[in-house]
Amino acid sequence: MLKRGVVLGELRKDYVLDRWVVLAPSRSKRPQLLALSQRVKNDDACFFCPGNEHLTPPEIGRIKNGSSWLLRWFENKFPALQPQGQPFVKTDNRFFKFSANYGYHEVIIETPKNDVSLGELAVDHILLVLQTYCNRIKTLSALPHIKYVSVFKNHGGQAGASISHSHSQVMAVNTIPPFVEEQIAAYRKFISCPYCQIIDVERRSLRRVIETEHVLAFTPYAPRFHYECWIFPKKHVRSLCDLSVVELLDVAKVLKIVLEKTSKVSSSYNLLVHESPCKEDMHLYIEIAPRNTTWAGFELSTGTVITSVSPEDAAAFYRGET
Ligand SMILES: [Zn+2]
Ligand SMILES: [Zn+2]
Repeated sequence: MLKRGVVLGELRKDYVLDRWVVLAPSRSKRPQLLALSQRVKNDDACFFCPGNEHLTPPEIGRIKNGSSWLLRWFENKFPALQPQGQPFVKTDNRFFKFSANYGYHEVIIETPKNDVSLGELAVDHILLVLQTYCNRIKTLSALPHIKYVSVFKNHGGQAGASISHSHSQVMAVNTIPPFVEEQIAAYRKFISCPYCQIIDVERRSLRRVIETEHVLAFTPYAPRFHYECWIFPKKHVRSLCDLSVVELLDVAKVLKIVLEKTSKVSSSYNLLVHESPCKEDMHLYIEIAPRNTTWAGFELSTGTVITSVSPEDAAAFYRGET
């Protein structure tokens, strides 16, 4: 158990609910550059800029550009997870379930440029970002005790970013997270993939945003966030890693179009890659969740979200009709 005054981490389950918390005391030391200003003006102050590589943990990999780089990735300097301690969930008694906060927590710097967002990058460069996601998913999911790899991006202070230089994060965990478990359980109730059917319905609906040869983007029927948008490969794949380069390029093109529009309505967003767990078969998709609203008492006490922008109006905005 976590001892008072000892800076260790733990994964803990709620008394009765299937709800988990990562206790990561060392995270409190991370710098909050975005809290001071929404943009780091001076590149010298940014840990993620070229020239400051020595300020980050040792590099795990990079995509080279001559003697410099286009992307690089390394362990998070203030990791919420670490490959140390007891990876198996244990229990002391009826109410307390826990394990070490076992896993891996990496950062991917998406560009050497300090003031360019993901949506502002060229499509070919966004493709490199997606291919790096695949690299980390493949590598980390093959490691012992890893049950799920979560890839996500926090853009802007309201989305949880502490540094503005464009980056993504990867967290590989020792349990299948409850939200993913819930999705799998719901998915299994259908005879065939519900998302393949949903794609067919939404491509002809008022919620269609954009359709290309391999990809459909639409605003979900019951969104949790204003202007929330889902990007689905039309082919049934369980992981980004199962897409061909041509298909991944299509994802990059759609992602750029969606993010350019998202930036018009929200300065903060989360990008969430909904991968299947290692041994499951769910339909992969990417969620863009603009964070220009705050969940309040009703949302926190009931789990039901109040939203004032309909997905049909949001899709019209994405299509350029409003
Ligand atoms: Zn920077
Ligand atoms: Zn499917």
